[in-house]
Amino acid sequence: MASIQERIEQWDGESVVVRYDRPTGTWIFIAIHDRTLGMAMGGCRMKVYPTPADALHDAQRLAAGMTLKWAGIEFPMGGGKAVLAIPGPLTGPDREGLLLRFGDLVESLGGLYGTGVDLGTTPADMSVVGRRTRRVAGRETDVGGAGDPGPWTALGVFEGMRAAAERAFGSADLDGRTVLVQGAGGVGRPLARLLAEAGARVVVTDAVPERARALAEAVGGTTVDAEAAYDTECDIFAPCAVGAVINRETIPRLRCRIVAGSANNQLDTDADADRLADRGILYIPDFIINAGGAVAHGILEFLDWPESEVEPRVRRIGAAVGSVLDDAERGTPLAAAVRRARGYIESIREGTGRGDA
Ligand code: NAD
Repeated sequence: MASIQERIEQWDGESVVVRYDRPTGTWIFIAIHDRTLGMAMGGCRMKVYPTPADALHDAQRLAAGMTLKWAGIEFPMGGGKAVLAIPGPLTGPDREGLLLRFGDLVESLGGLYGTGVDLGTTPADMSVVGRRTRRVAGRETDVGGAGDPGPWTALGVFEGMRAAAERAFGSADLDGRTVLVQGAGGVGRPLARLLAEAGARVVVTDAVPERARALAEAVGGTTVDAEAAYDTECDIFAPCAVGAVINRETIPRLRCRIVAGSANNQLDTDADADRLADRGILYIPDFIINAGGAVAHGILEFLDWPESEVEPRVRRIGAAVGSVLDDAERGTPLAAAVRRARGYIESIREGTGRGDA
């Protein structure tokens, strides 16, 4: 297994900030991957890792993913991510102390990196971080945070679905289309509402059946059991729950024409993009279509753009999805999305980009 030294030597990113937080025994890694488009921005993950090198690797991998995410939608932010590798569950004053010291560290970087919520951290945690730095998104609303990103993420997914429907069915209109929403949570709920308003037939599934039932009732839809969801016929399957649900085992079962949802890392492996293509199923890369919440927080908490910019910017995710699909004739949409993101960074670096991001 690679050491911390090797991980840093082999990485194609810009820099890594390392701090050992002695009072809690936590390793802090802030990975700054690429700032061609702007300040490195990505959430803060708090997790127990087997070794500090594993935590560093996660930070580097996630930071590189953020570079692609921002560039894929031509948004003026760079790729970064923080990992707080805790030795065990951390609560009360210990957690607060760590978050305050993490906030000091972010502030000391003077605008190199901005943070936010990720796996293992909450808006309440970000409110604590925000006592020490203003370079933080996702704080609670009562301390000035921009609020729940879920509805913005849902709007981006909705626009991405319309672009996908245009390519797959010849019309962006979702009226009469059947959309299966997997996960009746912070994104699935507002997404189901948007779909119902657009005239789609909404089918909801959730690991907690009561959640699916309540949402289906609210939007005039139906439900299906969590495991049966993969065998259910629909036009669009929308994973909005957990990662890796699109895999070697589920792909042969899918009865849909499009996979488009908010979940991070929907594909178990990149090879699943080819498996979907072989079955004639259009896969909309998650890192493009689920960027709506990140865009909203980026605008409201970091860029000081007017609030009126949020909705049009989030809706532009539809155009990004459309251009990825137009370019996907030379490979899968996943490959096209990565190519588009890298090409955009290159064009800005060389001064040939549109530069209006
Ligand atoms: P959430 O925790 O609010 O909701 C997830 C729902 O999925 C829960 O109701 C849970 O019971 C259900 N679920 C879990 N496993 C399931 C399974 N195997 N089958 C069916 N249902 C299952 O989460 P969220 O904020 O709605 O986010 C959903 C996904 O979208 C996550 O992968 C998240 O990382 C991703 N995402 C969210 C945002 C955002 O703005 N919230 C932004 C980008 C990406």
